[in-house]
Amino acid sequence: MLLDPIQARAQFADALARGYAILAVNADSPAAITDCLEAARQAQAPIIIETSLWQLTGHSFGAGDPVRGLIRYLVQLSALANAEPYREVPVIFHTDHIKGPDTLRILCAAIRGIEANLCGTTARLFASTISLDSSEMTEEENITRIRELCVLASEAGVPLTLEMEAGVDAGVTEIEVADRLLAPVERSHPGCLYLWAPGVGTRHGFSDKGYPFSPGAVARHRERAGAICGRPIGIALHGSSGLPESALREGVAAGVAKVNWSSESLLIRSKAAQDFYATHTAELEKSHKDWKATAMDNGVQTFVSERYVPRVIERIRILGGTGRATGGVI
Ligand SMILES: [Zn+2]
Repeated sequence: MLLDPIQARAQFADALARGYAILAVNADSPAAITDCLEAARQAQAPIIIETSLWQLTGHSFGAGDPVRGLIRYLVQLSALANAEPYREVPVIFHTDHIKGPDTLRILCAAIRGIEANLCGTTARLFASTISLDSSEMTEEENITRIRELCVLASEAGVPLTLEMEAGVDAGVTEIEVADRLLAPVERSHPGCLYLWAPGVGTRHGFSDKGYPFSPGAVARHRERAGAICGRPIGIALHGSSGLPESALREGVAAGVAKVNWSSESLLIRSKAAQDFYATHTAELEKSHKDWKATAMDNGVQTFVSERYVPRVIERIRILGGTGRATGGVI
């Protein structure tokens, strides 16, 4: 079931209270969305499906228009998440790394939602949780933009559950940054912040030039963010692909509630597709009796799925998410 912003808060509170983190997969295609929901179903775990500007504008969703991409993404995800056999899987839809001139237009659509007619029933579909990419912003710009989102939600009369970020690729964020960024937003728009993404020593991608990951920084930021907001605030971990299992476990124990997963996920899927085409050259000849089944999108995606789903389940297990689907809101 696709969770609304209020239900998403409850799921994060459950994760923090019970000491697990929710895997957030940057799902790159409709097939990747299917695989992630299937992995979560098998693991009986909550899952976050997140999308970034490059997917919203990309070929599989927006084909050049990110708002059209958001609409297609929401329809794809909700059609699957709200139907059997995925109705019992808590699914959070998160906007991740949205930046550039279309930021407000995209996030306005994500927050206020779109109206969809599904089999005769009108439903309003919207994102569960929201974040934007602040990597090229000053602190003042970051606060201003986040406040604009709060105003958008308030004017529309809809709830908003936010992740706010600061310098996720720039080493360990000083604890005072939490005071400078979170406190003004909480003061002007109380009750919107539920996730905080400071730098804790990780980097996006597979670079081995990262800073040492610091579970201590996770713990300090979790404590300070919770004190500022007066409620539990989970740490969102970006750049998790290169981290060993032990570091992920330490991060979760220190207060990570959401673990973004993109680079490694993409690598697994692309390598599997590469293997499929490398091992099916004969079947792809038009004279082969199986060429159509092999050439169709279903051929490669089924092959990729068989390799990818077990890896997602394994990632969920490492984060302690297995069996947590019934502990939250459903
Ligand atoms: Zn990230």
